[in-house]
Amino acid sequence: MNARHRAIEWINRRPNAIPIKRRPPADVFGENVFNREMMKHYLEKEVFQSLQRTIERREFLDRSLADPVANAIKAWALDHGATHFTHWFQPLTGRAAEKHDSFLEISDGEGIHKFSGTELAQQEPDASSFPSGGLRSTFEARGYTAWDCSSPAFIFETTYGKTLCIPTIFVSYLGEALDYKIPLLKSVGILEQASVELCKLFEEPVARVFPTLGLEQEYFLVDRTLHDLRPDLVMTGRTLVGAAPPRGQQLDDHYFGSIPERVFAFMNELEEESHRHGIPMKTRHNEVAPGQFECAPAFESINVALDHGLLVMDLIDRIAKKHHFVALLHEKPFQGLNGSGKHNNWSLMTNTGKNLLAPGKDPQENLMFLAFFVSVISAVDDYSDLLRSSVASPGNDLRLGGMEAPPAVMSVFIGRYLSKILTDIENPPRKRKHEPEDDLLRLGINEIPELLLDNTDRNRTSPFAFTGNKFEFRAVGASANSSNAMTILNVIVADKLFDMKEQIEAKIRRGRPLENAALDILKEFVSASKAILFEGDGYSPEWLRSAKSRGLKEHRHTPYALDAMLDKRSIELFARHQIFTEQELKARHEVLLRDYVGKRRIEADVLVEIVQTLVLPAALTYQGRLLDQLISLQSLSLLKEADGGQKELAIRLGEITKKLHKEVEEIEGTRRRVEKRGDSREVAIGYAEQVMPLAENIRLHVDELEALVADELWPLPKYRELLFLR
Ligand code: ADP
Ligand code: MG
Repeated sequence: MNARHRAIEWINRRPNAIPIKRRPPADVFGENVFNREMMKHYLEKEVFQSLQRTIERREFLDRSLADPVANAIKAWALDHGATHFTHWFQPLTGRAAEKHDSFLEISDGEGIHKFSGTELAQQEPDASSFPSGGLRSTFEARGYTAWDCSSPAFIFETTYGKTLCIPTIFVSYLGEALDYKIPLLKSVGILEQASVELCKLFEEPVARVFPTLGLEQEYFLVDRTLHDLRPDLVMTGRTLVGAAPPRGQQLDDHYFGSIPERVFAFMNELEEESHRHGIPMKTRHNEVAPGQFECAPAFESINVALDHGLLVMDLIDRIAKKHHFVALLHEKPFQGLNGSGKHNNWSLMTNTGKNLLAPGKDPQENLMFLAFFVSVISAVDDYSDLLRSSVASPGNDLRLGGMEAPPAVMSVFIGRYLSKILTDIENPPRKRKHEPEDDLLRLGINEIPELLLDNTDRNRTSPFAFTGNKFEFRAVGASANSSNAMTILNVIVADKLFDMKEQIEAKIRRGRPLENAALDILKEFVSASKAILFEGDGYSPEWLRSAKSRGLKEHRHTPYALDAMLDKRSIELFARHQIFTEQELKARHEVLLRDYVGKRRIEADVLVEIVQTLVLPAALTYQGRLLDQLISLQSLSLLKEADGGQKELAIRLGEITKKLHKEVEEIEGTRRRVEKRGDSREVAIGYAEQVMPLAENIRLHVDELEALVADELWPLPKYRELLFLR
């Protein structure tokens, strides 16, 4: 019995994880968060009020508040069993980073607990090992983290201990952003300003506007023992080889199906832990592919939702291991099956609780709704390449455009009803005699139904879809920190909102009433951005052809998709709104390219190792067995009568293994050549266009061997085992 078979046996013998005893969700919600209630409890009244103001204004902590607030947080954290604290930040690696310090300090030879205002407000972690794309010079390796008060401190709890986490930004000595949070916060500010101004133009009394975000997270669960027998899963998070099972997702029997017991136990714990950490986890279900699942919290203010998105990934990882699973957050763990995304449901909310992307009750409100709605469409149209760049990653290249994932081409789906309104705005139907003079009434703008899309009108094939009162950006990959995508979305929309407002104002200055001025400008915006609107099947090959004729580009490979970041227009856009300097953009571009190359490099290494140390030995062992049998048959002079086809099979195995030997040499040679190119973009293109196709070839031959070699000799857990055994 080989290790693989022992693993399978073990899955059937393993006792189930001890189920947790769940408490009512509302009772545990926020238990681990230093929330408003806790602040009130632990802080002096005046300090509490000042801190609330700081939070509301999204400012950094004032020096005078730092000490009392730190003391209160320390008391709260110690009361809740925390022993350490860390600034919790978002370097460009994509996952959260932490460096723990104990509360313990020795004073006069005795241990005391200390957490100063300075420790709360700022830390100086050594930044030299985080990606900076060349921003940070070696003589200034320090980075600085500072608390972003708009995201509350929380205690991260694992089986073995509790740590106080302070969500922070991460900057270089010279003030350049080294993380995803700083640009995101800046983009939220600029979007707020643009939104408030446009609201004011429509006489909507609002003081504040903030983007809201609901993040749906897809993931696969694989048994941990099987997982650990696959070097590709361990090292790259995806299968580099593996033959498709006879039953994949063709039966469509998994989606929304009843949740398997072992998975249910995991989900229960994930939910409870999410709730305790203040994440409003709401939905859980099976996804389309076997072994694939989804969870989604209710939407929150975008900054908090993004922090929670990272926290959820961390919780999924840890809790899965406890249940003897490994969670795969990779965009495409299995070839031929659905990949995993992170759907970003995005909208704009006012301080008065109004959703600016929901139609209102009267014509004036609806006109404002259309102004926001059309600005978003226009932003995606005008900056579609930039938006595509925001989701570019090696994992997502494998997902986009395949098996129920949105294509690598951007388009916007808005549904029939709104399509008709936009068409009418662009080409107003001729007035008939009995029709009202009021254009808003005549164009149907007065009566947009509150519930815009029923389920039949949902288009799952669109990367960017309007879903009734929010947009859903589905192209973001499952493993991404979607802060990057959301920052770019916020900025391009803000840019269009400013533009819309200025143009309407200009018309008003020339004497047009608000309503007509707005309709005029809406018409211009709609005419200019029609190309991005697409209501049909985004998976169809016809769409890719017609997208091309509309001037929409399909970037299948990350190194090309990333070019849009350094486009002159992008540089100007980010400079205009003070989100990134050109230097910061270049640095980020470089970080992403290096990430691409780094990941493809590891994949190639692991693939070669799998072929040489696992696949070829298995195939040749099997071939040796066949040859032994042939020798036995011959020695007994039974070759004619009892020939079992050993010879043909042995020859076939020999042919394939020989090809594999050659292909391994070829991929190694190609890699050496590609790696010699100086510039990261060129190396990345080399991997995408030359190395990857060779890897695909190797995979074909390995998969052919998997179908020939005796099951008892095959060392790698097969797709059917990874996907169906639990
Ligand atoms: P699905 O898209 O899976 O059918 P829903 O559309 O009901 O499910 O919700 C998906 C996500 O959209 C949830 O996280 C939900 O909280 C979020 N959502 C709902 N309304 C808004 C909004 N106004 N802004 C941002 N996200 C929202
Ligand atoms: Mg959805």
